[in-house]
Amino acid sequence: MENVKIPELFGSMVFDDREMRARLSEDVYASLKRTIDENVRLDDKVAEAVAKEMRDWALEKGATHFTHWFQPLTGVTAEKHDSFIEPTKDGGVLMEFSGKELIKGESDASSFPSGGLRATFEARGYTAWDPTSYAFIKDHTLCIPTAFCSYSGEALDKKTPLLRSMQAINRQAMRVLRLFGNEDVNHVNTSVGPEQEYFLIDQKLFNQRTDLVYTGRTLFGCRPPKGQEMDDHYYGVIKPRVAEFMEDLDRELWKLGILAKTEHNEVAPAQHELAPIYTTTNIAADHNQLTMEIIQKVAKRHGMVCLLHEKPFAGVNGSGKHNNWSVSTDTGVNLFSPGETPYENAQFLLFLCAVIQAVDDYQDLLRLSVATAGNDHRLGANEAPPAIISVFLGDELTGILNAIENDTPYEGVEKVQMKLGVHALPRFFRDTTDRNRTSPFAFTGNKFEFRSLGSSNSIACANIMLNAAVAESLRQYADELEPVAGTESFQETLHNLIKRVITEHERILFDGDGYGEEWVKEATEVRGLSNLPTTADAMPKLLDPKNVEMLIRNKVFSEAEVHSRCEIMLENYVKTVNIEGLTMVDMVRKDYLPAIEEYLYTLARAVDSMKSVSENLKCRYEISTIEKLTDLTDNILTSVEALEEALEKLKACGNVFDSSAHVRDSVLPCMSTLRGYVDAAEMLTSAKYWPYPSYGKLLFSVQ
Ligand code: ADP
Ligand code: MG
Repeated sequence: MENVKIPELFGSMVFDDREMRARLSEDVYASLKRTIDENVRLDDKVAEAVAKEMRDWALEKGATHFTHWFQPLTGVTAEKHDSFIEPTKDGGVLMEFSGKELIKGESDASSFPSGGLRATFEARGYTAWDPTSYAFIKDHTLCIPTAFCSYSGEALDKKTPLLRSMQAINRQAMRVLRLFGNEDVNHVNTSVGPEQEYFLIDQKLFNQRTDLVYTGRTLFGCRPPKGQEMDDHYYGVIKPRVAEFMEDLDRELWKLGILAKTEHNEVAPAQHELAPIYTTTNIAADHNQLTMEIIQKVAKRHGMVCLLHEKPFAGVNGSGKHNNWSVSTDTGVNLFSPGETPYENAQFLLFLCAVIQAVDDYQDLLRLSVATAGNDHRLGANEAPPAIISVFLGDELTGILNAIENDTPYEGVEKVQMKLGVHALPRFFRDTTDRNRTSPFAFTGNKFEFRSLGSSNSIACANIMLNAAVAESLRQYADELEPVAGTESFQETLHNLIKRVITEHERILFDGDGYGEEWVKEATEVRGLSNLPTTADAMPKLLDPKNVEMLIRNKVFSEAEVHSRCEIMLENYVKTVNIEGLTMVDMVRKDYLPAIEEYLYTLARAVDSMKSVSENLKCRYEISTIEKLTDLTDNILTSVEALEEALEKLKACGNVFDSSAHVRDSVLPCMSTLRGYVDAAEMLTSAKYWPYPSYGKLLFSVQ
């Protein structure tokens, strides 16, 4: 590894604040800063000046192209490269890049999903520079983070609504902060640190698995003799080949200014995790998209493939992404940190209430924000949080809220009557027992950890809903408290409000075991929480009038955008499962059945030969295996035919609601039955004849 100092390496491929300050004139820098910090529109002259400096910087770094980098609703990032060259009259070229090219791009949007937003006759889409996220260089290309929208201005990407949701929470949080006399705060920001899980397997074995190549997950495969039961992989010693990969990965991420911090092994064999230091949500979302791309690229360089799928292997844990989320002021105060004075504590409790209410009122939105065909395999499967959303607060905070609710003394470290605005909160310590891994939404000291995200999800979706829902609670609180601001009744109104919120939303608080059947019963039957096990169940809830109204009221989505998103996400679900189904049919008909048949033939010939030696030979192994395997091939054939029929019917479904329900009720069950028979046959068939590398080989392939 070349000996470059990390501080020099860090951000070396980013046109960051250091570069801007050094290269831009004072006026231009100040004007750009105002755009970044205060959302002030950028004027053309400034854009021109920034573009010129950005170009010079990029050329110095060896870039030849530029691209507007954006996040369409496909879930991955998109880029269309243009080179800097402009022909000159004398037949040569100049390297040019204008302010216009920086600010706005025009691209044919017709191949990106729009969910009916874009009439086919108007296929143009626009990309618009997001100056709050730094430009960077990747593969000799200057990448400009942009928002992507239709000709009529509707968002076709994930960044636009994310930025809007950040503005929404800023707007409402500022109103609340003013009520507490915070005059020095100008801006409230949300931050996220996403912990990314992934699998690494050997490239050669990957290439042999049709299912991995087409779908990113294994559709067949019986359990290896050893899985994760020994807990010997979690935080275990990192294997040399993986360690080299991680070192390389860190460097690549650091160059892009991504704060990769922690890397360790996860629970399942071949599973790992990477956590960056948290940063502003918008940048965290861009960085996480980049991280997913770079992990895959660097893995290839090391002869491995990185699987970002939520459930690449049945029977071992899948991969998620923990979204550590907090809200803080531009003066550096984390609003989820209990303060020192009674006032700060009342403020802390109010923000805490805002989250509790938001999660309760908009459980469905949080659930559907992480819903994909892949993630459906994890949620509720006793390895990840259940599909039911609830909030974990830990003993101390729960005790404090109980004391407020019941007007009883809090029996914590000190015995105090909880009367807000009069007493300071008792000092409470970051709960060390907060390792309730079964909770989807846990308070962890000074941040909330939303744990339901799938490993391949863009974090934008979850944070859009989270920010919007919390903005909505804060909006209601500000409406209620503003009329009494500065009067004597402020304290009492505040106290009553907090008490009321705790009482009304207590049902969402749950500190117990989220994996058990009892919780499902209690949550749905006693508490009335919603349980939406699949994407087909969850996604249509986006269109509930209550949800649509809230998103529109907070200016996060327009009505048309909500409808298009629902459609696109359901379409993704249907397409994903359809490809999986077709892949299964292909593998069964072309490889599994012929392979079993060949093995059967070998066994049958063996019986013939042995019987010719002596009629008395029993050939018990051969004959019993033949019997069992022919039973299985019968069943495999029947179930592959059933799957084919289900896939055929899918084509006839009239709309995405019907087709997603059909996928849930018919296609997926057929796939599961088929898999059961094939996996049983794998156990009985000589490995020599089996056409695909086994789970054991895949999971323990990287040493
Ligand atoms: P733990 O290991 O207890 O889950 P860590 O301190 O290791 O917590 O943090 C996990 C992730 O949470 C990291 O990405 C970290 O940067 C992020 N994080 C820590 N504090 C905050 C915060 N205040 N807001 C958002 N994310 C945070
Ligand atoms: Mg965590």
